Amino acid sequence: MTETPSRPSAPGGSGRVGQVKEITSLSNPVIKDIRALSMKKQRDATGTFLAEGLKLVIDAIDQGWTLRTLIYAKTQRGKDQVETIAARTVARGGLVLEVSEKVLTAITRRDNPQAVIAVFEQRTQPLEAVRPQPEETWIALDRVRDPGNLGTIIRTADAAGASGVILIGDTVDPFSTETVRATMGSVFSVPLARASQADFLAWSNQTGAFVVGSHLKGSVDYRSIDYRQKPVVLLMGNEQAGLTDALAERCSKLARIPQTGRADSLNLAIATGVMLFEARRHLLKLEGPAE
Ligand code: SAM
Repeated sequence: MTETPSRPSAPGGSGRVGQVKEITSLSNPVIKDIRALSMKKQRDATGTFLAEGLKLVIDAIDQGWTLRTLIYAKTQRGKDQVETIAARTVARGGLVLEVSEKVLTAITRRDNPQAVIAVFEQRTQPLEAVRPQPEETWIALDRVRDPGNLGTIIRTADAAGASGVILIGDTVDPFSTETVRATMGSVFSVPLARASQADFLAWSNQTGAFVVGSHLKGSVDYRSIDYRQKPVVLLMGNEQAGLTDALAERCSKLARIPQTGRADSLNLAIATGVMLFEARRHLLKLEGPAE
C-alpha cells in the first residue's frame, strides 16, 4: 500500500482531517500528471505549471495566484508555514499531497529537491488589455528561445520596475520549469503578454509607445536617448537572428550598446538588463541614506 487517502491533521494543524493525501508511489496517477508538467504539451493542456520553494509559494499565494496542488515532503508535516498554506489550499478547493523524498525528486528531476512545491494556474494578459502609461517601461522580446534568458529577463524586469514583458511570435514557454526557476519568483509579479508580430505592430501603433529597438546595427548610442518622453517599449531581438526587419522598421530609435573586445554581441539577457537600467535610470533611486 503506497497511498493513504487521508490522515488526521498534524498536531497543532488546522483541522484538515481527511484533506491531505499521502503518496509514496511514482505510479500514482496524480503524481504522473504532475511529473508530466515538465512537458509543454501538458502545461498547455492543463493551463498550469510547477513552482518550487516555500517562500516562492507563499509569495505567489499572497499575490493572488491560484494554487491547484500543494506538494510537500513528509519532513515538513506540522511546520507552521506549511500547515498554513495547506489549510489555505484546502479552503480554496485545492489538493494537498504529502509525499516521500523519492516522489519529490522525481517531480522536480533534482537530487536535492525543494521540500515544498506547488502547481499553479498560468496567467498571461491579452496584449490589447495592456495600456502603457507615462513613466512605464515595457520589454518586448522577439522570438526569445532560451528559457534561462527569459527567466533572467523577467527577474531583471522585476528588479528595475518594468511594467511587464511582451512575448512576440514563437517564444519559449514562460512557464517551463527552467524559466520559472530562473525568474526566482518574479514570474509571479511581472505581467506577461503574448502576441504575434502583426498584433504587436498594430498595438504599438495604437498606443503610440516610444519603441526603442536594441540592434547591433543601431546608429544611436543607447545612453543618448531620452527615455522620459512617453511610455517606453524596449524591443529586443532573437538570440540568433536579432530583430526581424518589420520590427526594426517600427522602432522610433535603433539603439546600440557600444562594445569593445572580440565578442560579436552581448547575451540577450545582459543586453536587456543594460538597456533597461539605462531607460529607468531617472526613476530608480537608492533606498536608505546615500554616502
Ligand atoms: N546574431 C544576432 C544579431 O545579429 O542580431 C545577435 C543577437 S544578440 C545575441 C540578441 C539581442 O541582444 C540582439 O538582437 C539585441 O537586441 C541585443 N544586443 C546584444 N548585443 C547588443 C549590442 N551591443 N547593442 C544593442 N543590442 C544588443
